[in-house]
Amino acid sequence: MPPLKIMVATIPYVEATFARFNDLCFEGRLKPLPVRLSRARSFLGKIEFKRKRQLFGSWKYSDFVLVVSSLLDLPETLIEDIILHEMIHYFILSQQLQDTSTHGVIFKRMMRDINARYNRNVTISHRFTEDENELDNRRRQHLLCVAKLSDGRAGIMLAAHTRVLQLWNDVKQIPSVESCRWFTTTDPFFNRYPRAVRAKVYLVDEYELEQHLNDARPLQKIGRKIYVQSPPVQN
Ligand SMILES: [Zn+2]
Repeated sequence: MPPLKIMVATIPYVEATFARFNDLCFEGRLKPLPVRLSRARSFLGKIEFKRKRQLFGSWKYSDFVLVVSSLLDLPETLIEDIILHEMIHYFILSQQLQDTSTHGVIFKRMMRDINARYNRNVTISHRFTEDENELDNRRRQHLLCVAKLSDGRAGIMLAAHTRVLQLWNDVKQIPSVESCRWFTTTDPFFNRYPRAVRAKVYLVDEYELEQHLNDARPLQKIGRKIYVQSPPVQN
């Protein structure tokens, strides 16, 4: 598993990613457009444009700008999916296709097609927190903190991927937490726990927890990057 790269979008990065996905997913049909970064709290990405009402009631779209948030450290795959999401909007608008709504029939069809074909995870709303409590057996990547509490019991916290750097520090500040280990795991056992945006540990049965750590791989934080530790070398 490659390291989970956490980063902030930059203009050269957005431009390079746009060019790469334009060739890969849009047959190079998108014209380059101005890119801007934003630190607004209300969105992760958007296409700005002008529109004019035409003779028969449809809109004519022009003057496109791709705006990407540089507010948060995000996993690179999420930044890519945000850019792809906006590229679908840009494709629809610049081809002057009239969709049924902002994320209408055309948008959803293109999104599903790109996700399936290129193994992406573009969504309609980029959620900051994935608070999926339902029990399911899907394999999803979890960032798991296993805490040893001062009374000897075990606690866990699953970090929202967008908040892992902050939580890495914050969880140690919880008074009852004595020490922490971090892992990445896809064990569906952990699907039932909410993904934390604020540091909070849930008590777990230590025996049950151990059963589900067999495939977990330790994580290491160096500076502002998080790495998956390779298994120890057998000499
Ligand atoms: Zn959208």
